Amino acid sequence: MNILVINAGSSSLKYQLFNMKDESVLAKGKVERIGMETAILTHEPSGKSEVHEVSEILEHTTAIRKVLDKLVHPQQGVLTSTAEIDAVGHRVVHGGESFKSSVLVNEDVKREIKRLFDLAPLHNPAHMLGIAAVEANMPDVPQAVVFDTAFHQSMPAPAYLYPVPMALYRKHKVRRYGFHGTSHKYVSERAAAFLGRPLEQLKLVTCHIGNGASCAAVLGGKSVDTSMGMTPLEGLMMGTRSGDLDPAIVPFAMGKEDLTLGEISSMLNKHSGLQAISGISSDMREIVEAVEAGDKNAKLAFDMYEYRLRKYIGAYAAAMNGIDAIVFTAGVGENSELLRKTVCEQLTFLGVEFDEEANRAGRGQDRRISKPGSKVEVLVIPTNEEWMIARDTYALAQKTN
Ligand code: ADP
Repeated sequence: MNILVINAGSSSLKYQLFNMKDESVLAKGKVERIGMETAILTHEPSGKSEVHEVSEILEHTTAIRKVLDKLVHPQQGVLTSTAEIDAVGHRVVHGGESFKSSVLVNEDVKREIKRLFDLAPLHNPAHMLGIAAVEANMPDVPQAVVFDTAFHQSMPAPAYLYPVPMALYRKHKVRRYGFHGTSHKYVSERAAAFLGRPLEQLKLVTCHIGNGASCAAVLGGKSVDTSMGMTPLEGLMMGTRSGDLDPAIVPFAMGKEDLTLGEISSMLNKHSGLQAISGISSDMREIVEAVEAGDKNAKLAFDMYEYRLRKYIGAYAAAMNGIDAIVFTAGVGENSELLRKTVCEQLTFLGVEFDEEANRAGRGQDRRISKPGSKVEVLVIPTNEEWMIARDTYALAQKTN
């Protein structure tokens, strides 16, 4: 069975085609600049050369058609016909309180995703375009949706409610939802397998640290708290996002700097974080290079980023009354030796014994970076959200047969 995974944005679309029999990736790629005459299609068929094509792609239906054309192309393709695609899985950012797990797409599901546009105005409308585009090109293929929020729906009320008038929750569903759930779930399962222990018995803190970053407290395989909130702005300091701050700063800064709602939102989402403090970049690689070259602002940005992450790990140890393992994943978590080292060397009070040599070795694979016998294990596990989406889609599609 072959599953096509789609992550549709407003002007871009990423795809991966999985063969579920041997869990291999048959092809992957992306379409960028949808809506323009010079849209770019990048197609990477397994075992064949990469293809770049510039053409007019004005909307998502054409983008999907071009992707399907590539997948069945006599030279650049990996399938003989689109009928070999058994199901399509979509990443959907916001499932609100309605979706606690992945589901097959039907009219009710589409209506509900649309109802949630308010909570994810930049993401959910684009996902709907992706779903409609697949429907237009392959009307009979089953489609599933996999939500970034679903894994965190197990949070208890004290973790997901904000201490503000309950009318905001009742009327407008203002609460913590959390994001990166597919990744937190995936690395939790892999961590249990790596440790050879049942997930149900583990207390994990999973740290998904990429451009966007979040931590989760995973107790017995269920998310019981996470650092992102109603939107992906809360929590850790990120590349361009502030993360936690005193909410009173918002009206104060708006008044002093004469900012509109749109401007303050843009400041906190796009012009804060590592970028704002370092004045150099939102990219952790460039920050680390600048730190090593002695740049004081980069060092301050790094120290704030690390400090805020370490505080969350400490908080989640309190949330779960202990930790068995800390898991690092995503771009920064998987690759920044310096970040992992700085965090872990200051967690000795929890019982972390950090292994510097292991921290430098074994890039790209699941690995342990704590010393044998460390009370709290520290793991690095490369995330694979696309595979999780394929797996859920496969399971749901099989039920339809
Ligand atoms: P996204 O949230 O967009 O999916 P990723 O998980 O791909 O992001 O993470 C991107 C981040 O990973 C970038 O900020 C980049 O700085 C960081 N990164 C990638 N490689 C390294 C590295 N070797 N050292 C430090 N940071 C890295």
